[in-house]
Amino acid sequence: MSDRPHVGVTEAFLGLPQFQTAARTALADPVLRRNLAHATGTIRAKRAAAVDELDNWEELRLAAEAIKDAALHRLDEHLQAFEANATAAGATVHWARDAEEANRIVVDLVRAQGAAEVVKVKSMATQEIELNEALAAAGIAAWETDLAELIVQLGDDWPSHILVPAIHRNRGEVREIFLREMGKVGRAAPDDLTDEPRRLAEAARLHLREKFLRARVAVSGANFAIADTGSLVVVESEGNGRMCLTLPETLISVVGIEKVLPSWRDLEVFLQVLPRSSTGERENPYTSVWTGPVAGDGPQNVHIVLLDNGRTRVLADPQGRAALRCIRCSACLNVCPVYERTGGHAYGSVYPGPIGAVLTPQLRGTGSDIDKSLPFASSLCGACFDVCPVRIDIPSMLVHLRTRVVDERRGGVPSGEQLVMTAASWTFAGHRRWAAMGRAVTMAGKALRSKRSGGRQVLRRLPWPVGAWSEARDAPIPPAESFRSWWQRTGGGDE
Ligand code: SF4
Repeated sequence: MSDRPHVGVTEAFLGLPQFQTAARTALADPVLRRNLAHATGTIRAKRAAAVDELDNWEELRLAAEAIKDAALHRLDEHLQAFEANATAAGATVHWARDAEEANRIVVDLVRAQGAAEVVKVKSMATQEIELNEALAAAGIAAWETDLAELIVQLGDDWPSHILVPAIHRNRGEVREIFLREMGKVGRAAPDDLTDEPRRLAEAARLHLREKFLRARVAVSGANFAIADTGSLVVVESEGNGRMCLTLPETLISVVGIEKVLPSWRDLEVFLQVLPRSSTGERENPYTSVWTGPVAGDGPQNVHIVLLDNGRTRVLADPQGRAALRCIRCSACLNVCPVYERTGGHAYGSVYPGPIGAVLTPQLRGTGSDIDKSLPFASSLCGACFDVCPVRIDIPSMLVHLRTRVVDERRGGVPSGEQLVMTAASWTFAGHRRWAAMGRAVTMAGKALRSKRSGGRQVLRRLPWPVGAWSEARDAPIPPAESFRSWWQRTGGGDE
């Protein structure tokens, strides 16, 4: 078992050192680096091939961006439409302001069914709110059924990738975890288990099968919530999601409010860009859609918990809100040179990589060392923007968040640069002030030139408060006459 402390995930994450310190530990681990380089390289190549097949990839990206922006622009209306249509179809919609409220709703719903366990479809939203920990505190076992999530859960580990949470593990490590842990919580792995993928998948399938058949309650997230039909959509590769969404009597879906799409037709775009960007496939092997319960078929109690948990705060920031367009495809992680070398744990959040570096400090704030450091966990190379299917300009957002962190650290006291820029803005805003400054500068230029006849035409160092600017640059000596004065004297060169 891992020797990490058994505390809530956020509590443990927020206690982590800043990214740069955690990254040093990851960089010193050659096995981790080899696992990451192999896995990200493979997914990167698959995505590139899948995207290259389409002539209209850029048009699809532009359409995905426009649909998401339109959805966010009138989010309140779309959410109300979703609630009305889902309710009309027989689902029960709950609203949760934060993680605590969402967890309480889910725990109460599970208790109302008299269940002591739930099976789970992979879901970032439930990781974000630490639902498994809340269920455990209420005496309810939550079984992850996605293969990679199962590996992470059995290994008492943290996920390190959005799509492939166990990307930091190799096959040998997975075999050891299965042999050691499966028997403690259900059907044990066979003693002769090898690290062959087929054998590992078979062991997981047999272990999970008994849980699928026994569970009366399932918990999922959703990739999309369709406003004009009240439907939820989950895409996945393994079929475990389909088992959770169809076998138990009760289905509870925790859905971030940013997952709403205005119309059913919008899926046409997203069911193309998501699989190609995430797993490098033309379409997901399993796409499940449900609109309330259907008599005699699948779950008969359908609950949907619409989760805010900081999202409306992100929406209120004009420079940060584009992060809510994210469809959690992971393409930005797989191309990021920083993520490829450090892995996901160094980011101290369930959202690692470039999107985590902009989303986590907005959702959690920048109060802790780890959250303050995340906007700096990037080389700003721009590869993340190039691959993002919803065109989130992560580099610009990182710069915006860096400014916020530095401003907070300064506690409202303006920097020398801010003072200079404020003075420059005031001067540029009035033509008389601008003309007066031009005259002052040219007078200074004349005086300097008369002192240095025939000498250098640059100043080595400017005086305070702009001295730092000239530390690595030569400031030219101002001309003896400004353009404005030359224009007035010559009539625009017509001498
Ligand atoms: S930011 Fe873009 S590339 Fe990264 S996970 Fe979200 S949608 Fe995918």
